[in-house]
Amino acid sequence: MTTWRTEGIVLRVRDLGEADRLVTLYTKEQGKLNATARGARRIRNRLLSPTQVFTHGRYLIFQGKNLHNIGQAEIIHSRQALREDLEKMAYASYVTELVDALTAEEDPTDTLFPLLASTLAWGEEGRFAVAVRAFEIRLMRELGYEPELYSCLNCRGELQERIFFTERGGTLCPSCVGQFPGSNTLSRGTWELMKRLLEWDLSRLSILHPAANNIEEMRRLMRKYVDFRLEYPLKSLDFLETLQVLPPAEQPSGGEKDER
Ligand SMILES: [Zn+2]
Repeated sequence: MTTWRTEGIVLRVRDLGEADRLVTLYTKEQGKLNATARGARRIRNRLLSPTQVFTHGRYLIFQGKNLHNIGQAEIIHSRQALREDLEKMAYASYVTELVDALTAEEDPTDTLFPLLASTLAWGEEGRFAVAVRAFEIRLMRELGYEPELYSCLNCRGELQERIFFTERGGTLCPSCVGQFPGSNTLSRGTWELMKRLLEWDLSRLSILHPAANNIEEMRRLMRKYVDFRLEYPLKSLDFLETLQVLPPAEQPSGGEKDER
């Protein structure tokens, strides 16, 4: 029987039978894979904690005919804070659901695993508002939908004073915007932010503190751009957007606070 060890992040967990779990992992070497964890819902089972959603761990996988099995598992980062705070959980659910929806099984890309791992790590520290925007735009690039940000997507001409953005993935000049219904204006500040979140080394992103209005504008533009590539609506988006429309006083305070 073929077995292998891999580092992975739990994207999704479903109950299987009386005490088992069906776990969707995004692994460093094989990309997304589904595996059963036998007995993982029993209270003293050693697979119970390492197969919780958002956990980053090391897994021993036994290759099966139809489904793989998780033989052993150890936690690298539990990401407990992501499961205990409503807002963090909503963001983390969106990130993992997006990876699940847009990737095929056992079709790895080199850079998606570190991107996912660092997004969840920043999120745990309360930096999801920026980290999720960096994650979305980089994920689109990894999947082959890299946005054009340096010239007009349509005529390839230089960008003018007024810039527009289309859900088809890029910037437009004023002469071409009429051919792309549903495009939005893109402010200078948000344009700069998008370029940085796409191009900067991941380790440098923690020094970015963008203005709230640029983050909000980018959120709206990215929502249309990501939606354009999705075959079905994400469940986690409704939850996330419900939280974001609450008035500030009623919002969970977990975003900035360390609750451990
Ligand atoms: Zn143009």
